[in-house]
Amino acid sequence: MKTFFHLLQEVIKPGLCHRCGGCVSLCTSVNYGALEIGEDGRPRYKDVEKCIECGLCHAVCPEIDELEPETRHRLSWSAPIGRVLSAGVARASDAAVRAHATDGGLVTALLLHLFHTGRIDGAIVAKRVGPYQREPYLATSPEEIMESRGFFFDTSHNVAGLGDAYMARASVEAMSPLMSKGLRRVALVGTPCQIQAFRRMETLGVVPSESVAFCFGLYCSGNFLFDEPHRLELARAGNFSWDQVVKMNVKEFFQVHLQDGTVRHLDLHVLDRLKRHACRYCEDYSAEVADISFGGLGAPEGWTSFITRTPKGRAAYLDARGRTVEEMDRHQDPGLSDKVLEAVMRAAARKRAEAREHRRELGKAVVVAL
Ligand SMILES: Cc1cc2nc3c(=O)[nH]c(=O)nc-3n(C[C@H](O)[C@H](O)[C@H](O)COP(=O)(O)OP(=O)(O)OC[C@H]3O[C@@H](n4cnc5c(N)ncnc54)[C@H](O)[C@@H]3O)c2cc1C
Ligand code: SF4
Ligand code: SF4
Ligand code: SF4
Repeated sequence: MKTFFHLLQEVIKPGLCHRCGGCVSLCTSVNYGALEIGEDGRPRYKDVEKCIECGLCHAVCPEIDELEPETRHRLSWSAPIGRVLSAGVARASDAAVRAHATDGGLVTALLLHLFHTGRIDGAIVAKRVGPYQREPYLATSPEEIMESRGFFFDTSHNVAGLGDAYMARASVEAMSPLMSKGLRRVALVGTPCQIQAFRRMETLGVVPSESVAFCFGLYCSGNFLFDEPHRLELARAGNFSWDQVVKMNVKEFFQVHLQDGTVRHLDLHVLDRLKRHACRYCEDYSAEVADISFGGLGAPEGWTSFITRTPKGRAAYLDARGRTVEEMDRHQDPGLSDKVLEAVMRAAARKRAEAREHRRELGKAVVVAL
């Protein structure tokens, strides 16, 4: 039986840990309490004596392929980007939701709809908890769901906090409080690696996966660490200064929105050196096993593109459409959903090819974890 000890050797020490928090969430939820998230965001032993060597943490790790075939089969996954029931472009109907959203506020609008119609009683999101940090967060009211949208920042805050705005924190880890709070139906919002860890828990049928009613995945090019030297490099490349920046976004380009309303578009490769090490080996761009996947790619500014993947996800979207969600008029652009899918397939193929190349190189190189 492989345990966390093997995760340390196979995943964490070689720098392949996505910091999704799945292993810790599982060990905590089943009340073994052997693991915790360390200050660097990676899992570690909290009390090795408590480990009963059940092997569950090893099985749910997205870097471990053991449960992958069964998980994909269960979710009717198909190449090249997973199951697709529908695709399109939409945004929150309410301008107040859109105002501080990352793209069109579609994720928040859907969460609010599910909450108001009694289909969820909470949502695992990410919330800024200070100028430097975003943390996984269990939102249990419409106000808390609203607060967690987007990642606008107050320019009075230190710009170093920008990096954390794009850091995927251990959202799956936030599932543990579900048990103590007795919530039975929550939505999980996360990056593809977080969604994968959750789906593996579901395949195993272990707590707290039964409490998650909806899985909302975000497209993901990577997770970036904006340290001082890299920030200077980016500012030079984009000809801007950080005190002018009001928002950043990753779509076809890395976009930097400035106070004067202009937007700098930088090639995504400028972010390569800022990318978290494990992200270089990640093959999932579009959260292929989510109920619905979301991103800015393929959508005009101020809108979110989406792919529904399960009947449950599609039904939730259709139910919210015309209420909290406004869909872009398909008559104006009948090829819109094809364009979204083409853009996502291109980005996904690029990410997969790069990840495979990096894995091949891994055999030759010594890996240094960031
Ligand atoms: C690390 C990362 C990389 C991304 N890369 C791309 C990309 O390459 N291309 C692309 O098109 N889109 C990418 N996205 C998705 C995009 O930034 C938006 O999240 C998406 O378009 C939804 O926008 P929205 O306005 O509908 O969401 P909003 O209504 O603003 O809601 C966003 C929701 O996501 C939650 N959230 C934010 N950050 C995290 C996080 N790190 N972990 C878990 N939940 C989080 C928020 O709490 C909120 O609930 C990325 C997102 C992240 C977090
Ligand atoms: S008790 Fe099980 S889940 Fe917890 S660390 Fe040990 S093997 Fe992993
Ligand atoms: S389950 Fe997630 S946090 Fe745990 S070792 Fe694997 S990638 Fe890292
Ligand atoms: S690229 Fe995105 S999905 Fe992949 S490991 Fe990094 S944060 Fe997770």
